[in-house]
Amino acid sequence: MNLVETLRGTVGAANVLTGGDLRAWEEDWRKRERGKALAVVRPATAAEVAAVVKACALAGAAIVPQGGNTGLVGGSTPDESGTQVLLSLQRMNRVRSLDAANLTMTVEAGCVLQSLQETAQQQGMLFPLSLAAEGSCTIGGNLATNAGGTQVVRYGNARELCLGLEVVTAQGEVWEGLSGLRKDNTGYDLRDLFIGSEGTLGIITAATMKLYPQPAATLTAWAAVPSLEAAVTLLGMAHRGLGAGLTGFEVMGRFALELTAKHFPQLRIPLYEQAPYCVLLENSDHESELHARGRFEQLLEAALGDGCATDAVVAENIAQARQLWHIRESIPLAQAEEGLNIKHDISIPVSRIPDFCREADALLRQAIPGVRLVNFGHLGDGNLHYNVQAPVGGDMAAFLREQEPKVNTIVFDAVGRYDGSISAEHGVGSLKRDKLEKHKSPVALDLMRAIKRSLDPHNLLNPGRVLKV
Ligand code: FAD
Ligand code: ZN
Repeated sequence: MNLVETLRGTVGAANVLTGGDLRAWEEDWRKRERGKALAVVRPATAAEVAAVVKACALAGAAIVPQGGNTGLVGGSTPDESGTQVLLSLQRMNRVRSLDAANLTMTVEAGCVLQSLQETAQQQGMLFPLSLAAEGSCTIGGNLATNAGGTQVVRYGNARELCLGLEVVTAQGEVWEGLSGLRKDNTGYDLRDLFIGSEGTLGIITAATMKLYPQPAATLTAWAAVPSLEAAVTLLGMAHRGLGAGLTGFEVMGRFALELTAKHFPQLRIPLYEQAPYCVLLENSDHESELHARGRFEQLLEAALGDGCATDAVVAENIAQARQLWHIRESIPLAQAEEGLNIKHDISIPVSRIPDFCREADALLRQAIPGVRLVNFGHLGDGNLHYNVQAPVGGDMAAFLREQEPKVNTIVFDAVGRYDGSISAEHGVGSLKRDKLEKHKSPVALDLMRAIKRSLDPHNLLNPGRVLKV
């Protein structure tokens, strides 16, 4: 019996797709990669995933795990060989249990992030992981990429929100590591090994995630700041003034907002014409809206007095707050409307971000006269989406072809000089795999290869991603 027939026997013929339009699984979100799978396989249980992995291992077929296929680094689509099995977790979408007293929920890997936020909310709780792809990305994908998003400054990345995992190994065994324990020092942390491994070490089938009490009030403000230094000063003031109430701190460069205004003229973007940067702050308060507003206004008045903000507005209601977040989340879409661009997802110690940007901006402008920089991101986490767009009127495709290596070298070398990371929250995938070879220490790469070889000795799980083995 050939592999496809075995897989049909394992998960049912209706859940093994080999013909028709498979673009939704075979093409990545950015439409930069398009592969061809031997089959798209959609198991419904961990036992079925294990059986699929065993069958693939026996046949020597590589497996590419996939959740919502919203990843941005070319990690979730098959190569062009037509030999890889695309394993979609989308049918594993049950909430297995919710333990309100323990503040945890145990969910299957294919649960869509937004549905988990809603599940928590219905129980009067908060599941804080939040990112613009939340309507289609899955918790399995979030954990496999250790996703960040907009609440990291308070709640951490996906890793910090996870207490336990259920994982199918490359040998087709099920590791039952689901646990609601906040303390468990019984040897090596297997959970943290799989989180962020981008499908190269095991297939996450379920997870136990932390929940939080819902804040009594969440307020959003928008401030114009005269420089990145001022934004960093304001961040420090917000940490001191709001404490754990500071749940979001985003920065947006003027050109990023100009592009957003150009492509989405219906959005009313405050204050952007008067300052080089705007910041978006979120304050979640466990007392009351009145208390939240009082502390926010105190903070912003102090910032205006110190000159680290030149103007500021606080959203009056939830609709206005949503509008402000919507502006921030529209930047990548506005950039896509403007044309092809070179994306970077970097992190730098917050204190060094102003110097980094000054240096990298100057080097890029010197190397490519007229180049346009779309700089925005999660300043509270030291994470910038430092993107590079062709000069006005330039041929975007040619720009990408001819300038991408040069631009990447300038940016990543500067990241190295400032002790930063070339991938803050999106992962490595295939897009940054070769860059990792240059920017990670040889000792770290050796340790990573040793882990990969011992967990997946036949290189069956997402081969060619993250590491050259
Ligand atoms: P996929 O894209 O399907 O897969 C991503 C990787 O994980 C692949 O390597 C895949 O093989 C692996 N994988 C998927 N599921 C599993 C599993 N169950 N077991 C093992 N491996 C698996 N990311 C951020 O961190 N912060 C952001 O703010 C953010 N914003 C975004 C905004 C937009 C509009 C988009 C399109 C993406 C954004 N992302 C962001 C990228 C982010 O990585 C993904 O949205 C999300 O975390 C991936 O989830 P997914 O289910 O779509 O995974
Ligand atoms: Zn981001």
